[in-house]
This record gives sequence, C-alpha cells and structure tokens, in this order.
Amino acid sequence: MIPIQIAIDGPASSGKSTVAKIIAKKLNYTYLDTGAMYRSMTYLILRHQLTAEQIPEIIALLDQFPLSFGHSNDGNQRVFVGDVDITDIIRQNEVTKNVSWVAAISEVREKLVDLQKSIALEGGIVMDGRDIGTVVLPKAELKIFLIASVEERAKRRYKENLEKGIPTDLETLKEEIAQRDYKDSHREVSPLKAAEDAITLDTTGLSIDEVVDFILQKANKIIDSENKM
Ligand code: C5P
Repeated sequence: MIPIQIAIDGPASSGKSTVAKIIAKKLNYTYLDTGAMYRSMTYLILRHQLTAEQIPEIIALLDQFPLSFGHSNDGNQRVFVGDVDITDIIRQNEVTKNVSWVAAISEVREKLVDLQKSIALEGGIVMDGRDIGTVVLPKAELKIFLIASVEERAKRRYKENLEKGIPTDLETLKEEIAQRDYKDSHREVSPLKAAEDAITLDTTGLSIDEVVDFILQKANKIIDSENKM
C-alpha cells in the first residue's frame, strides 16, 4: 500500500487533534501534533524566562533540549524534552496564553518545520496544526481545514475542562480562543489559513464520528486511486 499524507489545519479547539489521532490509528499512520511542538518550545522559554528578543538563546534551548515523541502503554502520544515527559504540563494555561508569540518567531518555525518534514518522510502521516497544508506538507494528498464557531469551540473546551476537573469560565474561554485565532491568523510568518486545495469543513453541530467519517471517506478514496496507478 502506498501511504499518503493528510494535513489537518484549523483554528484553536476546532477538534483537529481529536480527529487526527483517530484517523491515524484507523489507517495505521503516524500522528504528529505540531501544536504540541510550539507548546513545548513555549514551556522551555517560560522556564528559562526568555523573551521574544532573545532569539539566539531560544534557538540554543532547542539544541540543548531536543523534542521527541513517544507513546504510553495505552497508545497515546507523549512529548519529551530531553528525557522529561512534558505532555500534560504543556496544556497549562500559562503555556496556552504565551504560545502565539513564540509561534510567530520565524527562527523557531524554521527549526520546527524542518523537524516536522523529517518526521513526515517516515511514511503515512496525519499531521495537525496551522500551516501544515500551506507550508509543512504542501504536497499532501489530502488537506482538511476544520472550522467551528467560537461559541461551539469554547463550549467543547469547557466540557473537556469540567471532565478533567479544571475550573473554567466559559466567557473567558471564548475570549482566549478568539484572541488566539486573531494572533495566529494575523502573524507575518505562516499565518493560519486554508491551503487553496484544502477542503473546509464546518464542524459546528457535527459529532467527532461524523467528522472522522467524512475525512476517512476522502482519504480511502485517494488511497484506493493511488494504489491502482
Ligand atoms: O494546536 P494547538 O492549539 O495546541 O497549538 C498551539 C499554538 O501553536 C497555536 O495557537 C499556534 O500559535 C501554534 N501553532 C502554529 N503552527 C502549527 C501548530 C500550532 O503556529 N502548525
């Protein structure tokens, strides 16, 4: 079977990683959460109290603490810096609030995009982020751009947080999501936008299964036709 590349982009909390993970598992492909890479960099930068002006020090951090991915026993992806597992800590609010300025640094993007491209060389891949279809995998056979209203995305995140026992205010969540969307779509380097050949899917009111089925149908069609050639 010839493997394909699937790029899933979209704004904050649009369900990209949830569906990307399921699709990768169903196709037996590698899943790469590129947001986790920008979050890991942000975590490192905050720990070392660096600012946006200290680019050489920021880049040195990446060399000093290489990012890598592994899996826990239940098959979930884990993120490491050096040999420390930071999967959970990078979801903290402090990281979320700062990640957009870190992701706007072109030198950081260059390094992380190189890493993302090299991981994609290994075979079938489902990658999610903001610039996957436009910059990282411009030749991906399938590009999906997931959108949903801010209201819906905030409600999803609110429910997730409640289930995890994290106290949250819905209005604050809405504001934070809208702000992150704005910063991610208005930055100079690789802003969040749909690739010209991406299929945009509005997931407002759709279940996870419905979104997964939609993408899998498209993927299987492409895989079938690629393998007939
Ligand atoms: O996907 P997630 O919400 O975890 O991404 C966190 C942040 O990382 C985004 O808000 C964005 O600033 C940045 N990001 C990016 N390019 C990607 C993936 C994420 O700029 N490919």
